[in-house]
This record gives sequence, C-alpha cells and structure tokens, in this order.
Amino acid sequence: EALGAIEARDGEVGAFLKVHEEAAVTQARDIDRRRAAGEQVGALAGLPVALKDNINIEGRRTTCASKILENFTAPFDATVVTRLKQADAVLLGKTNMDEFAMGSSSEFSALGTTRNPHNLERVPGGSSGGSTAAVAAGMVPLALGSSTGGSIRQPAAFCGVVGLKPSYGRVSRYGLVAYGSSLDQIGPVAADVAGVARLYDAIAGPCDRDATSAQVAHTPAFPGLTEPGAPLRIGLPREFLDGGLQPEIQAALNNLVARYREAGATIVDVSLPHTEYAISAYYLIATAEASSNLARFDGVRYGFRTQEDGNLRDMYVRSRSEGFGMEVKRRILLGTYCLSSGYYEGYYLQAQKVRTKIIEDFQKAFEHVDVLLAPTTPTTAFAAGAKLDDPMAMYLADIFTVTANLAGIPALSLPAGCDNDGLPIGLQLLAPHLGENRLLQAAYQAE
Ligand code: GLN
Repeated sequence: EALGAIEARDGEVGAFLKVHEEAAVTQARDIDRRRAAGEQVGALAGLPVALKDNINIEGRRTTCASKILENFTAPFDATVVTRLKQADAVLLGKTNMDEFAMGSSSEFSALGTTRNPHNLERVPGGSSGGSTAAVAAGMVPLALGSSTGGSIRQPAAFCGVVGLKPSYGRVSRYGLVAYGSSLDQIGPVAADVAGVARLYDAIAGPCDRDATSAQVAHTPAFPGLTEPGAPLRIGLPREFLDGGLQPEIQAALNNLVARYREAGATIVDVSLPHTEYAISAYYLIATAEASSNLARFDGVRYGFRTQEDGNLRDMYVRSRSEGFGMEVKRRILLGTYCLSSGYYEGYYLQAQKVRTKIIEDFQKAFEHVDVLLAPTTPTTAFAAGAKLDDPMAMYLADIFTVTANLAGIPALSLPAGCDNDGLPIGLQLLAPHLGENRLLQAAYQAE
C-alpha cells in the first residue's frame, strides 16, 4: 500500500530522497512469515516508517540533503534505527529536508524539492518537511524527523499531521548527524496522537552511546493515552498571542480552549516574559554549535572532495565551498563570528544567559499548570519561494517553536482544522522536562 501511494503521489510531492523498495518488501514478507508461523513479532511489526535523511541506517546513504554527503554511506545504525528494527518496523526510505536541517521550508535541500500535499504551490515546512509530507500524503503511517528549533512541529503544522519533539535526552541522538548538539532531538510524526505515541515508545529511553541521554527509564505512553487522570490545568502564554497571528489560527486556538474547558480543564493565563529574545538567542547558539559540528566535513573523511588540484588548505576550502549550500555557509559564518575572540562575550555568552532566563520562565509557568497551549506557527504554509531570499523572514517562521528546544522540554503540534484556503492549522502543547506521557494524554484529549 505504501509503495503504491508513493508511486501515485511522490512524483508531485517529492517527499522521498530514496525508497528502499526491495529491502522493504523482503522485510515485510519475512515479518508475515514469522507471524504466520506463530513467532513473536515486534510492536511496530510491518508498519512502514520513513526516516529523515540525517539519521543513519547501516549500508544506506545519509545525505542530509547536501552535496557534500551525497555519496556518503552510513557505516552503522543510529540507536533509533536499531530500536525500530527490534520493533519489526519496515524502514521504507529516506526523506527530503533542508540541508543539514537548516531551514523552515525544506527548500534549502540540494537534492530535491518537496511540496505541501495539501497545496502544491505551498511549502511543507521544514526542516523535516519530507517526513511530514510523506505522512500527510498517506505514503507512510509513521515517520521520524529531527528538531533543533522547530523542525518537527512547524512542518507537522503546515502539513496537518501530529509531530512530537521529545525532551532533550529522551531519545538517543547516536547516529543523527549533529546540527546544534545542545538542541537536537529526534522525534515521531504520524497522522494521529496514538501513532506518535507508539513510535515514540519504540525509540525513547536511555542509550549508552549518547552521553546526553537521560538515564531515566521510559514508561510507555501509548497504553496510558486514554487514562483520564486529574483534570488538566492548561496555561495560555500571553506572549504567543500578542498580535501578528493569522485570524483563523487565533480562532482555532479559541475553539480548542473552549473544548478543553467543556472537558473540565482549567485555563490559566501565564507569562513567559523572555520569549521575545528567543529567536536571537536561538540563532546564535544553533549557528555557533553548527559551525563547530560541521568542521568535520573537510573533504577528507566524509563524502565530497573537490576535483581541483592544490595544496591541503586549498582542498579544504574548495571542498567546503563547492559542497555546502548557501544557507549552510551563512550559518557557519555566523556561528564562527559569534564564537570568535572579542565577540564571544557579547553574543554567545549573552545568548546563553537568555537561554537560562527562558528555562526559568517555563519552570515558573509549570508551577501552576500541567501543559501550555499555543499556536505552532504565526501563519499556515507559505508559498514556495516566498521567503527564499529573506533569511530573517525564514528565521521568524520558528518564532513559536524555538523556546521548547532552548529549554529542552517536550512539545507536540497537533492539527486543528484549516484556514480559509484549506491549509492545515497546527497548535502546540508544551510540558515540563520528561513530561511526555502527560503531554500525549493532553493531546489525545484534544483530538
Ligand atoms: N528552522 C530552524 C533552523 O533553521 C530549525 C531547524 C531545525 O529544527 N532543525 O535552524
């Protein structure tokens, strides 16, 4: 079914960079055979999963949608891949993304164009736009994305699917190509909350190969989804609601608030006063970390090397100049600048202080509420090309999502109807660190 749907729709949507058709069919048949023989099969047996192309599957390409890694074959499985294999999921293929996960529309891919399945003139969002488009178009029931500043929730909102950014430390990043190491998380995408919970359960939990992995046992979220629990206390952060919001998104939020109230929830007005500094802090920290993480792509150890002759230094410079795209170069320059002597104190250190303030804002808010509810994005999916030449406009697409990454807390975007043009609206719920199970229950209630 999945292969048929890809055949029918992916020509116009362009969600996949690679479909592992033969291996997937072989694996699915093998699972069928084991099931028929009465053998035990895993929790995701036979379910096709698409993976963002910055997650390693041994023996497969991991391109990060970059020319510099176009021919790079991963020598090992990411921990999430090992766990998906144990769960008997079928790893169907790799999805398109912004190059090295830097972007909010998937248009910065060097290897393909992805369009929004709801309207092919619009972007799917990014950077995990291939994964969310694949689920939205019915090509796969489940997909993995990664989020550094919003790359799961924002494209999930644009495509009308559910996407979860787990708590920092909850899901192993071993085998995920690093972008901003203090922010990155892998997370699940599905058509509904139950699907997200099942995929999350398969990948979450401590991992010895990731030093930032939280050493806290994971209690499966899926079985407890329908448990009523105590009535929810929901905070509405006023800084996310001040002007600028597309009217239909505001209406969708009011609507959901009314439904939660009817279901017995208490709605509380809360303040996250440092929200206005989040984008500035995020783009300093993320680019600083990226400039360091991407130093390893030098034409020697991975992927692409220039054809030009020259000395070693020329080879480094040319390989990087030819291999990286424009946005990636912009980030490396920005990050290197703000880490350099004389600017470090003025930019990077200030950004870290803002980050602490943002963490404290959330801690205070969660003294009074279980979850926070806010729009995922200020607008629905924008037109392809609309922000391509305006980096600031592109960066502002993340205005509501980056705070959860800066604070390391879990956050989930869920579909909440459509705007007047039929484009999906996304609303997000945020919870305290490692509070995924309560978060998923609250989201399930909203469906
Ligand atoms: N759009 C943001 C950025 O470009 C977030 C990306 C992400 O979460 N990977 O950095």
